[in-house]
Amino acid sequence: MIDAARLQSLFLELVRIDSHSRREGRIAARLARELGDLGADVVFDGAGTKVAGETGNLIARVPGTTTAPALLLCAHMDTVAPGEGVKPLIEDDVIRTDGTTVLGGDDKSGVAIICECVRICRERSVRHPPIDVVLTICEEVGLLGAKHLDLSLVRARRGLVFDSDAVGFAFTRAPGANHLEVVVHGRAAHAGMAPERGVSAIRVAAEAIARMRLGRIDPETTANIGRIEGGRANNIVPDEVHVRGEARSHDLARLAEQTDHMRACFEEAAARHPGARVEVQVESAYEPMAVPEDSAIMRLVVAAAARTGRTITAAGMGGGCDANVLNRRGLEVVNLGTGMRDIHTTSEWLKVSDMVAAAEVTLAAIELAADLT
Ligand SMILES: [Zn+2]
Repeated sequence: MIDAARLQSLFLELVRIDSHSRREGRIAARLARELGDLGADVVFDGAGTKVAGETGNLIARVPGTTTAPALLLCAHMDTVAPGEGVKPLIEDDVIRTDGTTVLGGDDKSGVAIICECVRICRERSVRHPPIDVVLTICEEVGLLGAKHLDLSLVRARRGLVFDSDAVGFAFTRAPGANHLEVVVHGRAAHAGMAPERGVSAIRVAAEAIARMRLGRIDPETTANIGRIEGGRANNIVPDEVHVRGEARSHDLARLAEQTDHMRACFEEAAARHPGARVEVQVESAYEPMAVPEDSAIMRLVVAAAARTGRTITAAGMGGGCDANVLNRRGLEVVNLGTGMRDIHTTSEWLKVSDMVAAAEVTLAAIELAADLT
């Protein structure tokens, strides 16, 4: 039932609308029209004001033909840079960028799949539950749209996020992450005339990092120091170093433990050098998610895939997405692959047939959800 040509054409239109994070106003207006024309009640929440963006999250409530619980279909409207002036190239089944920008298949493939499914429901009078389409802002800059989503406008408490690559997988597990920002303070002095008066912030940072457990900590946990900058000149004992790093874990307790360890390494190194001090700031980027494989939403997508002659396998992913936030906020959500490939690069591409496959499974899930209780 999915109209591949129409899905492709909407996708191409959407990737040509610039929508860097906080600049989603134009695409939101276009999608409000799309979903409003399909009979949805479209509203925006106040998230845009909170993040100083052009628009809030778009929430489109499609009335059901049955009284089953509402189903959430969620994707994000923003793209990473460089994502302005996208000129998609079409080669048979493949759509790619011209190499100067990302394609924006992350996540406009998800947006296009959702719109096509809602359209089919209306056009073909498919039995379906109430559907809440949530198109978020600012996913790429810290899941801000999902964090500020006004849940009082959303009826659904379970559903699907469309924001991962390979079709045939439902991501049920993802790590949580903490970001660390550290400033190491030493004391400046002339390196040749009075080195004993200085305290080297570079030495303190180096000692801290040398003693730190980094890389793969255990099967569930990783850690990295990703950026370091500091010092002034060869002949000055360095008085300041800035260090940034992260810890990730599927286990909240292990995440806290690794984060505390990294903080302690800096504090202990500073304590060994009188006159040195550190400021460590920890920000929770997102928390882990783990949806059981026998949850209602997983059973729904597995059954939907079977109905279309496909399979859906539960999998874990290495990063966070809106699903992390929504699960933490009490919804039950898994992340379905849309076909997007080599995302966040200027060689991003996707296959239209993959988007069609994801849309077929989604439509089957919508039909099956019409009879859930
Ligand atoms: Zn994404």
